[in-house]
Amino acid sequence: MKTMTLDKILQSQGFGTRKWCRQLIADGAVRVGGEPVTQYDRAFEPEGLEFTVHDEPWTCRAKVYLALNKPAGYECSRRPGHHPAVLTLLPEQFAWRDVQPVGRLDHDTTGLLLLSDDGAFIHAQSSPRRHVPKVYVATTHDPVTPALLAQLRDGVQLHDEPAPLKAQVRQLDAHRLEIVLEQGKYHQVKRMLAAAGNHCDALCRVAIGGITLDALGLAEGAWCHIEPALLKFDP
Ligand code: URA
Repeated sequence: MKTMTLDKILQSQGFGTRKWCRQLIADGAVRVGGEPVTQYDRAFEPEGLEFTVHDEPWTCRAKVYLALNKPAGYECSRRPGHHPAVLTLLPEQFAWRDVQPVGRLDHDTTGLLLLSDDGAFIHAQSSPRRHVPKVYVATTHDPVTPALLAQLRDGVQLHDEPAPLKAQVRQLDAHRLEIVLEQGKYHQVKRMLAAAGNHCDALCRVAIGGITLDALGLAEGAWCHIEPALLKFDP
């Protein structure tokens, strides 16, 4: 693989402008293999390179794929209006690299959110032809009834949709439902529950394709890298 100079590697990883990265290196803030490297033009193979900046470890990756356990009270938008952005929960290098959420969760929805700086991946996931099951746990205001389950399974009409939307649903307890959706329409779970005569008091996304929050074991607000092989959602 092609080698790159250390200043370019740091810049590619989101540590700032080339000038800033050169300064970090000159200041002795960067160590590779435990040794400080003070020449910005030392070349390394970038992929997988492990280094520290001010003693914080970092592994060099060409593209990043992240999973975040989103807490309530954060917006997925890059320019949030009323709440802090989810990006503020991640190291600032990711914002520099233009990491973005893959799809959106409402500010009050919690749970699994994928983020990446791989534009092609984000674009592909947003395609309406992509049918990746997304699993939500909804807490309902009124008790779950057989009629509610039947309505959601048979399809509920939302005012701006040409046809009724259906969901796979499973009752978890008196006030909780597991809902599986393959589309991602605006406020879809909340609007489907409202159209079926109930109200969504809380919503958590627990899985996307084969990636589950349980298996990741992430605390609220915590994030981790996802191996790209896990993201091959297509059948
Ligand atoms: N459906 C909703 O209503 N909100 C979300 O955040 C996700 C799915």
